[in-house]
Amino acid sequence: MEVRVRYAPSPTGLQHIGGIRTALYNYFFARSQGGRFILRIEDTDRERYSDESLQDLYDTLDWLGIKWDEGPVVGGPCGPYIQSERLELYQEYAKKLVEDGKAYYCYCTPERLEALRQEQVSSKSQYQGYDRHCANLSEEERRAAEEAGIKPVIRLKVPTEGKTTIHDVIMGDITRRNKDVSPDPILLKSDGYPTYHLANVIDDHLMGITHIMRAQEWIPSGPLHILLYDAFGWEPPVYCHLPMVCGKDGQKLSKRHGDTAVRDFRAKGYLPEAILNYVTLVGWSLDGQREFFSREDLEKCFVLENIHKSSGTFDYKKLDWFNGQYIRQKSDDEIVSLITPYMQEAGFVSSPLTDDDKARLKRLAPALRERMKVLSDAVPLSRFLFVDEPVTDKSIYVAKGMDEEATGKALERGAAILMANEEKGEPFTKTEDEVRALADEMGVKVNAIFQPLRVAITNSTVSLPLHDSIALLGLDETRRRIDRAIALFA
Ligand code: GLU
Ligand code: ZN
Repeated sequence: MEVRVRYAPSPTGLQHIGGIRTALYNYFFARSQGGRFILRIEDTDRERYSDESLQDLYDTLDWLGIKWDEGPVVGGPCGPYIQSERLELYQEYAKKLVEDGKAYYCYCTPERLEALRQEQVSSKSQYQGYDRHCANLSEEERRAAEEAGIKPVIRLKVPTEGKTTIHDVIMGDITRRNKDVSPDPILLKSDGYPTYHLANVIDDHLMGITHIMRAQEWIPSGPLHILLYDAFGWEPPVYCHLPMVCGKDGQKLSKRHGDTAVRDFRAKGYLPEAILNYVTLVGWSLDGQREFFSREDLEKCFVLENIHKSSGTFDYKKLDWFNGQYIRQKSDDEIVSLITPYMQEAGFVSSPLTDDDKARLKRLAPALRERMKVLSDAVPLSRFLFVDEPVTDKSIYVAKGMDEEATGKALERGAAILMANEEKGEPFTKTEDEVRALADEMGVKVNAIFQPLRVAITNSTVSLPLHDSIALLGLDETRRRIDRAIALFA
């Protein structure tokens, strides 16, 4: 049997980490099994639909290098793959259920349903939901409603007895009493649009989906879907509900934890390789050991059996670490092209780059490669080269445990060592040894000397390695900045 899986997002918001992980798992599973990965757009919620979300979906998958075998744009044998283009199909199938006695027309007005709801609330009724009023309408009642011009919805007849079980390869069997399944949910709305449940089940069947891998939050819909498959007389696919993606506090990942939209990570300068690698590891592992996987690796070795049962933790620090690792693997030229948009936006270089800009960025690349966690770090790390904003607040030069007076001395004596060695082209380790000796002599920490030097040269407490900074800035400019800082303390 050929594996056929799908990612079926609703374009009602930006692609977030959890959603994209679902897409990746489906994609990798399809690839590792020699199957097909299908993209389906579930856009029947017209109020929440937005073109921007749809574009964001395409852009995000494209950025991650995830290609779908069937779906919008590329087409395929089971198209169209956009639900709003399949309305007639859903209407046809819903009607068939009515004919088979598995579903019925409901003419209840919104007013009646609202009154019903209020009465259930005020009487604290055990029973919540639709009262099946239209399940047994007589032919006359039906005709009267039709003649009055009421557009009906179609509801599924949910059995009141018995139980329904979904088999899930990760969660095991999940069984619900049918009377706890939502009473007679709407399948087709009065405007001819299907609800999520109807469209989802019909499409999964008609598109030959073999495995449904989706977020755990869909488990509550599971029994209803099984009842729908039964009503149609279809075999349900294999279910595989994925563990949740949580923040460090164990709560579902949300904006409270930080960025969640892939687009925002991308804007900050996370690499697609890092996102793809790390997001896959939130809830899956090969052997509990190996951490680095390229897309090509995962296309080969991703198996369902290794998906975790318990929720995964999305650790922003760990992602930063991965991103740093992937940045270190880039060549100088790659770094240049990756940082260019950020440097242009900061106004450090022109757009398009001049030859001079290119040469400058290329000289910067090796030092940046070692220090950046995200590509946008290139801007603060290199600002000192493009704009000179001297730090005039003396306290910034002062390291922990130091005061201004001692800092002034440390700066002056440290500068003498540093500049003498730099002018002679000595290796930086010589400077480090001598500064260490000086620190001992002065009874201070090494950083008490390096911090004011760093602030003097790079106008910041966080910078590229000092030696690289000096090389990039040039000796004359370095000396000028150091003298300026010494004068500040004089
Ligand atoms: N459209 C649903 C979503 O946005 C699909 C759920 C499913 O995969 O069945 O998540
Ligand atoms: Zn009704």
